[in-house]
Formats: sequence, structure tokens, C-alpha cells
Amino acid sequence: MGIADNLDQVKQSIQQAAQEADRNADEIELVAVSKVHVAKTIRPALQAGHRVFGENRVQEAQGKWPALKDEFSEVSLHLIGGLQTNKVKEAVALFDVIETVDRPKLARALAKEMEKQGKQVGVYLQINTGEEEQKGGCLPGDADEFIKLCCDELKLPVLGLMCIPPAEEEPSVHFAFLRKLAQRYGLKKLSMGMSGDYETAIRFGATSVRVGTAIFGERAPH
Ligand SMILES: *Cc1c(COP(=O)(O)O)cnc(C)c1O
Repeated sequence: MGIADNLDQVKQSIQQAAQEADRNADEIELVAVSKVHVAKTIRPALQAGHRVFGENRVQEAQGKWPALKDEFSEVSLHLIGGLQTNKVKEAVALFDVIETVDRPKLARALAKEMEKQGKQVGVYLQINTGEEEQKGGCLPGDADEFIKLCCDELKLPVLGLMCIPPAEEEPSVHFAFLRKLAQRYGLKKLSMGMSGDYETAIRFGATSVRVGTAIFGERAPH
């Protein structure tokens, strides 16, 4: 099957999952995760009319997206991988949404850079719900303070919360936790769910799912 077919299939599954959860599918955004894939692989998705994409490395995205953004209008590019403060300038310039804001130093650097560039980039605050050492994300115990810092003090354009549950655990506990945390602060959006669990995430209130493999196929290992 081609990429446009895969995309259709995923959209249908989203529709179905939304229906089963008594939700409107229009409120669920599909971020097509194109990391590792070359422009030639991504183009069919753009030609099929898809416009929201996710990349996990600033440098890799810089290599392929400026040209694709010239070619196709109204692309919304999401950064879904960890961001180092020395790449904040490039990230603010290239991305439309940054989903991985997870520590005060980064949040402050982003606020400053957005002001400097006069460009507001919507952000998600990433929560490390599984408290995994190797993973990015603010620890649940620090989340209250961090959310207040980003929303109230820095006044970042916070869209909502994002998480990546531990691979070997039942994800629904993590999805439910994230939803509860977002509700406590009146944050509307939840970025959660990948190829293996996006239907579950939709049941738990995901407003944005990040799907790579189910659209573009398996990624070659780095
Ligand atoms: C790679 C990645 C995805 C997509 O994962 P698939 O299993 O290929 O759908 C989603 N979210 C993040 C943060 C990722 O790094």
C-alpha cells in the first residue's frame, strides 16, 4: 500500500475511534511523523493534502522542510523531539508548534527567542508520566510549578500537554493522568498516542495523535 492509502486508513481509524468515544473527529489532529524519511517519501502525503507533520531533530528538519514548505503552502511543522537550548533560535524560526517543552531553562529561552523573532510558536509541555530517566519531560512532581511558570510567568502560548508513555506499559494510565493534569489547569489540548496506541489515546481524550510508522512504514534503525 502507498503512503496516501496508509494516511487514509489512519484517518478512518481516527474517525472510528472518535465515534466510539462519542467525540467529534474534527477535533482530533493527526501529526504525520516524518522523522528519518526523505522528502521523496514525505511528498505523497503532502500531495494527498495532508499538512501537519512531526520531526524530532532540528537539524534534520532544517535539511528537508524549508524546500517542502516552499513547495506546499500552509504546512504546520511540529517538533516532537528533545530540544537543546542552543537550538532554540533555529527551532523557533522553522517550527510552528514545539511539543517538547520540559524544563524551566528551555521555557525561558523559548519565551525570549519568540519575543526576539516576533513569532509566537504554540507549545506543549511534555510530562514524563512514566518517570523514565532516559526520557525527556517534566516529572509529574514538578509539573504544577512548571505549568505555572510557563503559563503565568513566561506567558508562553501553551496549547496543552504531551506525553510518551513507557513502551512496555499499558498506556491508558498515562493518558488518563495527562488528561487530569491538563484539566486542572484548563489546558485544552492533549498530544498523546502513536501508531501502536492512538485509538486508545483518543478514548482518553487525545486532541492530537503523532503517527509515523502506520503512515510511512518502518523506520530503518539509526
Ligand atoms: C517517533 C515518534 C512518534 C511516532 O511513532 P510511531 O510509533 O512510528 O507512530 C510519535 N511521537 C514521538 C515523540 C516520536 O518520537
